[in-house]
Amino acid sequence: MSNLSDKIQRKLNRKISRNITCREWRCSIILEGKVDTWEDVYLAGKLAVNDKYKGVVNKIEVEGLDIPKIKKPLLEDKYLLDKEIDVLIIGGGVIGSSIARELSKWDISVLLVDKEDDLAMHASSRNDGMIHPGLAPKPGTKKAYYNVKGNEMHTKITEELDVSFKRTGSRIVFYNKYMRFVTPIIKARARHNGVKGIKYLNADELRKEEPDISRDITGAILMPSAGILSPYKMTIAFAENAVMNGVEISLNTIVSAMEKKEDKIISVSTNRGKIYPRVVINAAGAFSDEIAAMADDQFFTIHPRKGEAILLDKKKGNLLNSILSNPALFKIKNTSKGGGLVKTIEGNVLVGPNAYEQPYKEDFTTNKNSIDEVLKKHLTLVPKLSSMDAITYFAGIRAATYEEDFIVEKSEHVKNLVHVAGIQSPGLASAPAIAEDIEKMAIEILSEVNDVKKKSNWNPIRKGIPKLNLMEYEKRNELIKERPDYGEIVCRCEEVSKGEIIDAINSLVPATSIDAIKRRTRAGMGRCQSGFCMPLVAKILEEESGMNMENVTKKGIGSEIIVDETKKHRIEGRGKHESL
Ligand SMILES: Cc1cc2nc3c(=O)[nH]c(=O)nc-3n(C[C@H](O)[C@H](O)[C@H](O)COP(=O)(O)OP(=O)(O)OC[C@H]3O[C@@H](n4cnc5c(N)ncnc54)[C@H](O)[C@@H]3O)c2cc1C
Repeated sequence: MSNLSDKIQRKLNRKISRNITCREWRCSIILEGKVDTWEDVYLAGKLAVNDKYKGVVNKIEVEGLDIPKIKKPLLEDKYLLDKEIDVLIIGGGVIGSSIARELSKWDISVLLVDKEDDLAMHASSRNDGMIHPGLAPKPGTKKAYYNVKGNEMHTKITEELDVSFKRTGSRIVFYNKYMRFVTPIIKARARHNGVKGIKYLNADELRKEEPDISRDITGAILMPSAGILSPYKMTIAFAENAVMNGVEISLNTIVSAMEKKEDKIISVSTNRGKIYPRVVINAAGAFSDEIAAMADDQFFTIHPRKGEAILLDKKKGNLLNSILSNPALFKIKNTSKGGGLVKTIEGNVLVGPNAYEQPYKEDFTTNKNSIDEVLKKHLTLVPKLSSMDAITYFAGIRAATYEEDFIVEKSEHVKNLVHVAGIQSPGLASAPAIAEDIEKMAIEILSEVNDVKKKSNWNPIRKGIPKLNLMEYEKRNELIKERPDYGEIVCRCEEVSKGEIIDAINSLVPATSIDAIKRRTRAGMGRCQSGFCMPLVAKILEEESGMNMENVTKKGIGSEIIVDETKKHRIEGRGKHESL
């Protein structure tokens, strides 16, 4: 044991328990043992962080706590058996999908796999949709660098990919007029990170922009580069453009093991057959540490940091124009930006998120008490908002490492592996910038053995599904004449037509479930939360995709909606076997 690990061991003994042991492995520190609570597991991980180590691998268990293993797709086939490809991307969140798009510029074969039945099923659909300005990340970190660069890139990329994006700016609000004196400190940090245009707004200036904010707010710091977009639409747009340019996507595909020869991955096992990739990109979000472990290259641990948020009815959208942040900026060692109110790109108000440590990587349930706390904390920003305006809640998991920075690098020990891990917030904002660097790394590895060329016919332009409710009447009429299905409204709350749903089902990354259609079109996202349109959407899915109604699912196999015909049972009860 070195002096350093000895010192950490003593600290762990003193502050937590003598049941924890630590040892060095390569350039990391490994923690093992058993403790009584998850809080102790987390605390031990934090205490072990040290600049001299590349990362903390926390294998400590909690006595009596059984953490479920990764959920597997209920599918087993040979679709990918013996497939040889240049690059395998593991993970179809915004990170994997943006990387797929970057790599589609090259004349190589690329396969993206995700274990879920659609893209953006984990953190990439469970976030605030904010393109953060880049003030919050600690100066000098990868988070700060990629956030600021990624923010800038969104203007061009959202235009190319036909994704709605607005730079509404965000405002860190103050309840104390003396807080304006911290403006120079904030400006210095902004300068350090490269965030432009920051300025102080007094209460009057702020009220001109946000007339309904609380009278208690005394001023704000404006960050004009902050923006909003739909995170799942962005993810799907990246992936569709990648598919247009030759990338293959295999959903319901889980990576379960890797085989290595010397210091290279030679094959990757999935539920759909063994694949033979030349380069592997680990973009598996909360499971990226487990993917690293499969390649015997785990030097970090993901501790799942949960966040819950509340979506308010659109009819209250007029009470907010931008993003209001409740500051967490001055808390020492804060792990979140503090949450607040966000006017979403679709016009709802989003409240939250919060942030807390817990052991589960796929627990997307919401908790009444924490939802109540989030509402209580943030609704005061705009007093005319009420908890009665809530139409739904959701939870997401941030894939945080103990070091709290992004990992964007080639493996030091496995020659054909690239890690994009620890991509917690602001991962959405950073995605395009991260993707550019990962593209370079993958191409460098491939170029060591082959001559890799750019495609001459790469097409950066992708057209999304027409949004009927945003069109001028004249344009609507033209479209309906050409495609009469666009004249039939299916979701009344969000004014979504049958034509949009049909286009989502037949798109380049086809929507095959009710939720997948919802993510692409918003059918079911309004006030009634699909109470009215769900049977209609299910019927269109049946008609368009040719699947039986009993096989229509909410979100993939195992979430079937219709179990059986109800009246059939009554007739069967009377001894007749006909269905109505
Ligand atoms: C509540 C909340 C609010 C947030 N707000 C913002 C925000 O406003 N702005 C911002 O910039 N960021 C925000 N973030 C962070 C942002 O959501 C993430 O940084 C980003 O979505 C991470 O994308 P990803 O592709 O790395 O991960 P994910 O979206 O989690 O994707 C990882 C994918 O890997 C797949 N996978 C895992 N293991 C396997 C396997 N073995 N085989 C196959 N597939 C596998 C999963 O199914 C998943 O789809 C927020 C996060 C949360 C939780």
